[in-house]
Amino acid sequence: MEFCPEDGSLMVPKNEDGKIVTACPVCNYQSKSKDSNLIKEKLEKTEILKIHKSSEELEALPKVDAECPECGHKKAAYWQEQTRSSDEPPTKFFKCIKCKKTWRSYN
Ligand SMILES: [Zn+2]
Ligand SMILES: [Zn+2]
Repeated sequence: MEFCPEDGSLMVPKNEDGKIVTACPVCNYQSKSKDSNLIKEKLEKTEILKIHKSSEELEALPKVDAECPECGHKKAAYWQEQTRSSDEPPTKFFKCIKCKKTWRSYN
């Protein structure tokens, strides 16, 4: 069951150009949840590709004080990637120089 985010009405299945979509009977808001999940999945795959750095690339990266969530080591390589839409700030990535764990920060 799904509720309209606009007015909280119970959304009902509806035939739209031969496709079944979930729509609000009040404001006709249509659920795009399936599509946005797909987009999110694609985005995450792109991000996974981007966090693979060769050792040469890692050598060239600045090392900053950041605590590794995996092993607690206090130094990590640091870089930024524009992984989302260009009007959003770039995502910060850290890679532990000890255990090679990669994590990211949205701050
Ligand atoms: Zn609605
Ligand atoms: Zn580590």
